[in-house]
Amino acid sequence: MRTQVLDAGSPDAVRTAAEILAQGGLVGFPTETVYGLGANALDREAVLSIFAAKGRPADNPLIVHIWNRDQLEGLCSIPEGAEKLMDAFWPGPLTLLFPRTERIPDEVTAGLPTVAVRMPSMPCTRELLKACGLPVAAPSANRSGRPSPTTAAHVLEDMDGRIPLILDGGPCQVGLESTVLDLTRGEPTVLRPGGVTPEMIEDALGRKVSLAGSILRPLQPDEKALSPGMRYRHYAPKGDVTLVEGPEDAVVRTLRERCLADRGEGRRSCVLCFTEHVRELRDCDPHDIGSRGDGAQVAHRLFDILRKLDQEGMETVYSEVLPPEGVGLAVMNRLGRAAAFRKIRV
Ligand code: AMP
Ligand code: MG
Repeated sequence: MRTQVLDAGSPDAVRTAAEILAQGGLVGFPTETVYGLGANALDREAVLSIFAAKGRPADNPLIVHIWNRDQLEGLCSIPEGAEKLMDAFWPGPLTLLFPRTERIPDEVTAGLPTVAVRMPSMPCTRELLKACGLPVAAPSANRSGRPSPTTAAHVLEDMDGRIPLILDGGPCQVGLESTVLDLTRGEPTVLRPGGVTPEMIEDALGRKVSLAGSILRPLQPDEKALSPGMRYRHYAPKGDVTLVEGPEDAVVRTLRERCLADRGEGRRSCVLCFTEHVRELRDCDPHDIGSRGDGAQVAHRLFDILRKLDQEGMETVYSEVLPPEGVGLAVMNRLGRAAAFRKIRV
């Protein structure tokens, strides 16, 4: 199969994409979070082909994308508190879990009693969803286990020859996947942190929100994953990533020592550091993750940098960390998993 890449701003391209979706085909498309790999959520066969194209385990459920709340009718019920959150954050990077009806195929939800739903905000994504008139099931458009794609080129890297069309909408604005929030079991719980922070959700709901235990640590062998995606080795480059935490000067010194020591032993090594430390670490092949005080910038750059590490054949990587607050929580969840939670405290 030849994979076409078309400009997401072109009405013709959007029409072509909508036709492919309506006929049961797959389309790679941009959103404000990451690129998605979409299929008609009500077409079992189409949904199964997402899992095949990604090499995704069947027990990892998908997010259903809509552009209009009326589309929820008949698909799910709306738990208490959800209206407030939809008013506050939709369209935007917040996914909500709803108790679902039989109209949603089991393949979408991996047999779970809830369905994850999101309304993306990027204008061309909304045009696509409107043009096809369907709820669109879409995980991130990467091969399973690779970092999520944040440009059309990343999608092409992973999906060339596997899907007919990618819409190119430029680099994703947020750059990390959506926040996943569960309102269906008592205390609202963030299962996966993203661009909408727990503090923002608490403000909108007027009540406390809890965080799933495995956000900043590995899942224990006997622990059930509330968010099935958290079970998998995700966002992982091929090399070994180690996080370095502590006072600024000591962190920079350690990044340098470790990187140069590994090189001395013949390993290909580099550092991920804040813009402010690039000069000081210039003999360590510094990869600039963004400014220290700008978590949104780090979020925006992270997956592109993780992909580059593989292209460059890095064997060991040492990285600075953000405080796990605001969008830093989402950054550290992804970076922590990329590092298999390996950490040095200095
Ligand atoms: P992706 O968009 O590729 O990051 O995948 C969607 C993620 O959303 C999955 O890996 C799950 O972690 C989460 N998710 C989707 N549906 C559900 C659900 N019904 N319950 C819990 N988590 C879900
Ligand atoms: Mg994914």
